[in-house]
Amino acid sequence: MADEFTTTVYYDDDANSAHIDDETVAVLGFGSQGHAHALNLHESGVDVVVGLREDSSSREDAESAGLTVTTPAEAAAQADVVSVLVPDTVQPDVYENAVEPNLDAGDTLQFAHGFNIHYNQIEPPEDVDVTMVAPKSPGHLVRRNYERDQGTPALLAVYQDATGDAHDTGLAYAQGIGCARAGVIETSFQEEVESDLFGEQAVLCGGVTSLVKHGYETLVDNGYSPEIAYFECLNELKLIVDLMYEGGHAEMWNSVSDTAEYGGLVRGDEIVDDHVRENMEETLEAVQDGTFAREWIAENQAGRPSYTQLRDAEMNHDIEDVGERLRALFAWADENDQAAAEAPADD
Ligand code: NDP
Ligand code: MG
Repeated sequence: MADEFTTTVYYDDDANSAHIDDETVAVLGFGSQGHAHALNLHESGVDVVVGLREDSSSREDAESAGLTVTTPAEAAAQADVVSVLVPDTVQPDVYENAVEPNLDAGDTLQFAHGFNIHYNQIEPPEDVDVTMVAPKSPGHLVRRNYERDQGTPALLAVYQDATGDAHDTGLAYAQGIGCARAGVIETSFQEEVESDLFGEQAVLCGGVTSLVKHGYETLVDNGYSPEIAYFECLNELKLIVDLMYEGGHAEMWNSVSDTAEYGGLVRGDEIVDDHVRENMEETLEAVQDGTFAREWIAENQAGRPSYTQLRDAEMNHDIEDVGERLRALFAWADENDQAAAEAPADD
């Protein structure tokens, strides 16, 4: 049994904010991660400059939040730490045009995901540090947790340590965005990228939606009503996942009926069988050997034809229509949950 962590976890006490206090951090992009990193760092006392295109739709948001905004090139020129938080598919372009010409020896190039470094879409000069602080959550939670004096767990990796301080700078950055309050887990760019791509393809985004669709279709094709199938295969998934999130599989199994537990235990591995495991191995191999990365880069270069088609098909699946109608019907349930969650504790 794994009773000890196999990796190092850092907290606020391990970080030294001096590594970033006197630095200027350029945050390129003000989207999901960008707005959270920029605002959290700013409120942690770090000198932040946000880099956005002239016609950026986010410019006003950043300025009205009290941040200094300039172009990505100018921000990179002013900064000691350049945090690249534009979408992964546009990073190589932004890097080439705005960042690379403005990198000085000893600067830090900071990412929240390792795709472009790991698959050589960005090749930094040898005299800069290259780090990753990757919060394990969407940006709005990174921001909200910070505002509530809480943290969001993050991964920390160093790809290149030109100054000898890359690790400390990365950890100070993680502290600045509030992640060291929750725990910062040491990893490598390779491990972060490969596990992230595999996870989202095989389990989280691809695997789960496919499982839900197959379950739904099996019921509907056998004459059960789409509404019942929707509730059973999609809606209830959240309740099950919440239990797993809180207390692992054990809490889930303990909370469902004995009949559900026996049925799930005896049939689960028959549904997701060795064949699925073989598919997972292939999916992982395509991530490891770069096949998936090449496919995705080519897809973008071609204007995303397959992506658009697959997305349309997904949006037009029957389950979407049924779900939309049912969610509208039961919207009051969410509003009650929301109100209860936001009510003062002594209410
Ligand atoms: P977003 O899609 O939210 O970023 C949008 C921002 O990028 C906007 O401010 C947009 O400005 C700007 N932008 C888009 N295109 C350009 C361009 N060509 N030049 C300059 N600015 C541009 O990105 P995310 O926050 O989702 O992702 C950022 C990084 O964080 C990625 O590496 C991602 O993998 C990683 N990450 C994301 C997570 C998430 O939950 N979203 C979780 C963990 C990591 P404009 O108004 O000009 O369009
Ligand atoms: Mg991911």
